[in-house]
Amino acid sequence: MDSNKVRQAFLDFFASKSHEIVPSAPMVVKNDPTLMFTNAGMNQFKDIFLGNAPRKFPRVADTQKCLRVSGKHNDLEEVGHDTYHHTMFEMLGNWSYGDYFKKEAIEWAWELLTEVYKLDKSRMYATVFEGSEEDGVAFDQEAYDYWKQFLPEDHIIRGNKKDNFWEMGETGPCGPCSEIHFDLRDEEEVAKIPGREMVNMSHPQVIEIWNLVFMQFNRKANGSLEPLPAKNVDTGMGFERLCMILQGKKSNYDTDVFQPTIARIAALSGKEYGKDEKCDVAMRVIADHLRAISFSIADGQLPANAKAGYVIRRILRRAVRYGYTYLGFNEPFICKLVDGLAKQMGHQFPELVAQQTLIERVIEEEEASFLRTLATGINLLDGVIKKSANGKISGKDAFVLYDTYGFPIDLTELIAKEQGVEVDIEEFEKELQVQKERSRNAAQQDIDDWQEIMAITESEFIGYDNLEADVRIARYRRVKSKNNVTYQLVFDHTPFYGNSGGQIGDIGYIESANEKIEIVATEKENGLIIHIAKQLPENPEAQFRAVVNADARQKAANNHTATHLVDYALRTVLGSHVEQKGSMVGSMGLRFDFSHFQKVTPEEIREVERLVNKLIRTNYPLVENREATMAEAEAAGAIMLFGEKYGDKVRIVNFGPSTELCGGTHTAATGTIGLFKIVSESAISAGVRRIEAITGETAENMIYETQNILSSIEQIVHNPKVVQAVEKMVENNATLGREIEEMRKEKVAQIADSLAKNTPLRGGVTLITHTSKHTSEVMKDLAFALRQRVSERLVMVVGNLYDGKPTLNIMLSDDIVALGVDAGATVREAAKLMNGGGGGQKHYATAGGKNPDGLQAAVDKAVEMIMEKIN
Ligand code: ATP
Ligand code: MG
Repeated sequence: MDSNKVRQAFLDFFASKSHEIVPSAPMVVKNDPTLMFTNAGMNQFKDIFLGNAPRKFPRVADTQKCLRVSGKHNDLEEVGHDTYHHTMFEMLGNWSYGDYFKKEAIEWAWELLTEVYKLDKSRMYATVFEGSEEDGVAFDQEAYDYWKQFLPEDHIIRGNKKDNFWEMGETGPCGPCSEIHFDLRDEEEVAKIPGREMVNMSHPQVIEIWNLVFMQFNRKANGSLEPLPAKNVDTGMGFERLCMILQGKKSNYDTDVFQPTIARIAALSGKEYGKDEKCDVAMRVIADHLRAISFSIADGQLPANAKAGYVIRRILRRAVRYGYTYLGFNEPFICKLVDGLAKQMGHQFPELVAQQTLIERVIEEEEASFLRTLATGINLLDGVIKKSANGKISGKDAFVLYDTYGFPIDLTELIAKEQGVEVDIEEFEKELQVQKERSRNAAQQDIDDWQEIMAITESEFIGYDNLEADVRIARYRRVKSKNNVTYQLVFDHTPFYGNSGGQIGDIGYIESANEKIEIVATEKENGLIIHIAKQLPENPEAQFRAVVNADARQKAANNHTATHLVDYALRTVLGSHVEQKGSMVGSMGLRFDFSHFQKVTPEEIREVERLVNKLIRTNYPLVENREATMAEAEAAGAIMLFGEKYGDKVRIVNFGPSTELCGGTHTAATGTIGLFKIVSESAISAGVRRIEAITGETAENMIYETQNILSSIEQIVHNPKVVQAVEKMVENNATLGREIEEMRKEKVAQIADSLAKNTPLRGGVTLITHTSKHTSEVMKDLAFALRQRVSERLVMVVGNLYDGKPTLNIMLSDDIVALGVDAGATVREAAKLMNGGGGGQKHYATAGGKNPDGLQAAVDKAVEMIMEKIN
């Protein structure tokens, strides 16, 4: 069964059991501070499980793009070394929200595996939760009994809390789970050790394929469990592992999911897969990481210096490093694998095809830059190895290479080992730990449990139409971070817009009969709109008037609408390849990132500005549809973003020719924006440009400022034709400069003539020794002018003091040098007397010093040294 059929069979099976088939959510997570990437199928339903949003369907199934490279689930170090953990993988899942529970979940899993996929029953094992005294949860007899219908009892294994109690995080929904394991080993091995003893022992051929989680508790911040109001089922099956079993392979990488990519890596490197373990690991790492990186970029997460972007950058660098070290790639190569991947997976995930060029460009640029880092690092490492005492590189040095230069520690170790040098890994780990602690302390937050005042299923946003409303606090909690306490408040409904879709949340206040509390920010998290206050109301149960700061809101709305207009204008001026790659809208201005492969020229910028301002003046009114279906949105030609999670009802926002899907707040008509001005254009990565712009009053103020600068210049130059006046000044300046230069040369020639003529010979030597006050250029010119005039037996030792700084200047004719006098060595030695140092050639050298009082002594010393040699 090829992998596409395997996936389809899963979805078809659950559709036949009345499940709604939904699309995969983006792999990059927004609006959840506890999670950077989707790491399980249930993430996109978290708000439903938490009771923050109503369920849309009682039963759902899908395939979900997951990435396990950070936080609670991090498989990165295993990937490539083993054959069944990936960074990015697909998780097939089915869900019940308060609908069916253990019985159906187990029966359907069995039916699918044995009747549709026809897996060998004798190779299957199920685990069930043995119970936990500390949590007061009993052995899962119920699940055990359902399994007993299908499996002999010695194929049902009791598992502990670590393996069989699933938790989303430190707090939140959790419950016992039941896993299905499969034994893929050869007959002889099975005969030797029964599969039962191999389950959960990290054997690559006795592996977990499916986890059925029965969510029935909520873990609170104090560690205790409380039952959830509705019992849920959440299952996850590893798609690539399932393909391995169905295709009769012993490694995920031998399936049709990975083989095409591995074949391309083999062709590019000229190495064969399956011949050498180290090369094989490298090929697996690259085949795996290619997917993780490509899907992240497609979802809008570009490699960057911090947070999620940094995680992606590190994955990419890991792949480059394996390719470089084991496969001999020292030029970008991962970018060449994207095309094949897009062809292979584009059918299920069209975002790969739509953004192929961008993905290729970004990867190529990242690869090239990291390869340069590697080259620099190898140079630095050479230096470190050379100075390494007793055959050991200190952990501190290794850490500097790693931390400052991005040079990977395992590569340091490898190269050091090749040269017979060891690395103090223990010390390196210590340094790393110290750094981690530092950043952890900076980010440490203590979040209390929600205090619930009233139950709500959704915190409705009513702020499109209202800036004020009577509200009640439904729940609140305290958040403590580094000596700073804030309170998060959730209202039953709210006019406050929560930070999302690139638009900053509202500020304002809430007021009851006897108190007024400022709202300093509004966030959106797992479907909740969270108002941040510095203090908690004395009586949280009172009724409050919630009031949004109207001025800030109107400015943000103007900027958000302007963002839509600029998106439209960029597509019109630059072409339809322009895709939004990020945006930030606040009351101060806007930032818009978009795909485009070269610099936007000043002419193009001006054209975009003109078009946007024209749309503003046309005063297009806001036309919105808040309850549109996706089909309606498509029919309206609305711009949708990759990597955005859209519900089944979407909001269409239209201003004249611009139509977008958007949840943000907008102005009533474009005219209120007033004026639009781009203030900067730059690159944020290969293929992605950023513009920053301002509108309305801010743009107006900028005009005033510019005008003020102009009038100041006008006054300085006493001329209303500023440009001509300044041009003239620059021209004059250049002429004056040339004239001064000529005069200087003349002057130097005069002094040189006079010195050459008038200096009496001393012991047959023209010994010019005096102190002067010239610039260093003049000193140099003078020295060479003298050399021209006195070609034999010239010794010039001049101390010069310019701008409070002493210098010593020595010039010798060649015959003096031939006697063994070295101007460089002399100047170095003599300059010590004025706390300085310097050097140069044998015939000409200079030194600077810190102590002007030592200048004369330095001159005397130099003369003495030279004359000693000559006589
Ligand atoms: P394992 O113990 O093998 O790491 P897990 O307990 O971490 O698995 P779950 O969190 O229960 O796995 O995820 C559900 C299913 O997703 C697993 O049964 C497995 O088939 C699959 N899976 C988990 N992690 C990975 C991974 N890194 N790569 C590929 N598939 C995975
Ligand atoms: Mg795991």
